[in-house]
Amino acid sequence: MIIIRFLIYFFILYVVYRIIRAWVGQSTSRTKPIFGKPAGEIEDIMIKDPYCKIYFPKREGVRLRKNGTDLYFCSTDCRDNYLKEKGKETV
Ligand SMILES: [Zn+2]
Repeated sequence: MIIIRFLIYFFILYVVYRIIRAWVGQSTSRTKPIFGKPAGEIEDIMIKDPYCKIYFPKREGVRLRKNGTDLYFCSTDCRDNYLKEKGKETV
């Protein structure tokens, strides 16, 4: 039974470690120049949908290349709606 207690203890430590890692990773990524790095290297960051303002993981986003910059949307619907709205202003 000592082994089971040890495993539980180890699991809790692991979870705490992951939380700390995620927390530290978030706070450091704010200071790093994210957009200066080549595309494809940082896929695990949260990014804001310019249409619906929702935050989601960048790697799961729908990419749209516009005027030399990459925009990311949470879904193809948001991308299409965004394009529709922007299409009224400039094409
Ligand atoms: Zn969206």
